[in-house]
Amino acid sequence: MKTHTKETQETITPKKALDFLIEGNQRFQNNLRANRNLLEQVDETANGQFPFATILSCIDSRVSSELVFDQGLGDIFSIRIAGNFINEDILGSMEFACKLAGTKLLVVLGHTACGAIKGACDHARLGNLTALINKIEPAVEAVKEPKEETLRNSKNIDFVNEVAEKNVLMTIDNIRSSSVVLAEMENKGEIKIVGGMYDIKTGGVKFL
Ligand SMILES: [Zn+2]
Repeated sequence: MKTHTKETQETITPKKALDFLIEGNQRFQNNLRANRNLLEQVDETANGQFPFATILSCIDSRVSSELVFDQGLGDIFSIRIAGNFINEDILGSMEFACKLAGTKLLVVLGHTACGAIKGACDHARLGNLTALINKIEPAVEAVKEPKEETLRNSKNIDFVNEVAEKNVLMTIDNIRSSSVVLAEMENKGEIKIVGGMYDIKTGGVKFL
């Protein structure tokens, strides 16, 4: 697997970038790895980076974008925060990655059994975590079923996973409404913005 260069980055379409991630996740699920030499990639990227995708994912130790999509050095910008939502700084990072550094695909990657989502479902309160969880709680409210209060908490894993998926979709809406730069790039077809859910039991990513 070759390190991306300015020339290869320019030829990659948003759809091709998505295909790279789908193929990489297939390799991961089959315990295959693209043949790459990370130390050589250190050399090859020493004078610049030309990644093809930007991925916002959770801090969860089981969900490393580089690993689950089998990517090397210089392939993806990886943004991580518990619960994979956005704020102004994360939007700024995304705008840098897409507009200035040329990535063609922006992925919001949620995952099953997410601790931050569970915290939001339970309306947990703890130190600075409270403010973070407040930002995820709109996704809890947006999932209407089940109605019974006793089923709307972290003990109901189906509910938790539905909230996680809703949180991905709402984060994408928030990106479009809060970033003129990214919305414009998407409208012009320069980038694609897609959501995905990583299944911690199978290693598979389902794109939404
Ligand atoms: Zn998580």
